[in-house]
Amino acid sequence: FESPTQRAIALEERYGAHNYHPLPVVLSRGQGVYVWDVENKQYLDFLSAYSAVNQGHCHPAIIAALTEQAQRLTLTSRAFYSDKLGECEKYLAEYFGYDKALMMNSGVEGGETALKLTRKWAYKVKGVAADQAKTVFAAGNFWGRTLAAISASTDPDSRNEYGPFLPGYVIIPYNDLTALEETLAADPTIAGFMVEPIQGEAGVVVPDEGYLRGVRDLCTKYNVLFIADEVQTGLGRTGKRLACDHEGVRPDILVLGKALSGGVYPVSCVLADDEIMLTIRPGEHGSTYGGNPLACAVTMAALDVIREEKLAENAERMGELFRRRMGELSQKSDLITLVRGKGLLNAIVINDTETSNTAWQLCLDLKDRGLLAKPTHGNKIRFAPPLVITEAQMEEACAIIEQAVRSK
Ligand code: PLP
Repeated sequence: FESPTQRAIALEERYGAHNYHPLPVVLSRGQGVYVWDVENKQYLDFLSAYSAVNQGHCHPAIIAALTEQAQRLTLTSRAFYSDKLGECEKYLAEYFGYDKALMMNSGVEGGETALKLTRKWAYKVKGVAADQAKTVFAAGNFWGRTLAAISASTDPDSRNEYGPFLPGYVIIPYNDLTALEETLAADPTIAGFMVEPIQGEAGVVVPDEGYLRGVRDLCTKYNVLFIADEVQTGLGRTGKRLACDHEGVRPDILVLGKALSGGVYPVSCVLADDEIMLTIRPGEHGSTYGGNPLACAVTMAALDVIREEKLAENAERMGELFRRRMGELSQKSDLITLVRGKGLLNAIVINDTETSNTAWQLCLDLKDRGLLAKPTHGNKIRFAPPLVITEAQMEEACAIIEQAVRSK
């Protein structure tokens, strides 16, 4: 092979399953907002591993927690207590204001846990007849790749040839309170509405102001659980601790993942009050690695960083700068039709169809110019840098994007 880049790509191609289509860049190092490839070229990371690296790559405080804990105890399973789990659960419960936390590993397991809790609550508290409980989802949702998750999906690529699917789902349009009310009013077997405060994978779809408040009110009115999937929007990303904080609403079940560990370790969790959480009893749900000591140490350090470094506040300011610069660019360029987002979860929509490869070409050009971003749904490019980004770094990134767009 000619280069280390080609060698690494060829290895994945030959020995790995072909379930992703990565940008042709092979990374080997990261620090803060930067990553470096195997040829030592430096890039601004404007994906942050789909918002998992909010605290920046290899944050020293999180890595210190990881290495310190890794030398003491890494896994006990839940067959025994550990000296870290209770401490971390208390930390999570107090940080987000819920009675209890249930820790899992991946985001999709968090969603799955929320769904199982919702069903238990339906039977034990709401009084829905056995096996009749339904959960409502919004079209365009993304919460992972398991069969339970794709059963709720409206994306053909996620679903095709994976059936049969799980029953008990109702799909309504996103950002549509009328549809939600009609659905909830018509069916007393509905137990929950699981929704992303901003739809990330769908292309950073921001609902109207008041949507989350409306969801909260309707769920309360019809005795249905409001489940917020903040796996991508949570933890400072949108300029607040949680995206729900923008409207001052408190979901009944909160699902977190990704940045909960700052990209260091797979950690997710579900938060709820006792009436919901205690419907699951010993032996009824779990995970070998869920809530392990290493995950706990990393999670507490990662959440400390968000608070101490005021990352939500920085995301708010840097996001405004980004959208202003991109807004100006879209005035001057026919290529960009729309700039949208909140905090540092943003996207530009390229003036093209979902099946063209203009956005892909633009991302390749951005890569050559030293900025990494990835198209989603063909013609949208998400820009979500680590929240530790400085103003100078953001200015530099905007200049790169402007040059790339103008060159087209
Ligand atoms: N929920 C949302 C909103 C997500 O964006 C994602 C991943 O992109 C998930 C859940 C699933 O997380 P994971 O890939 O860790 O299973």
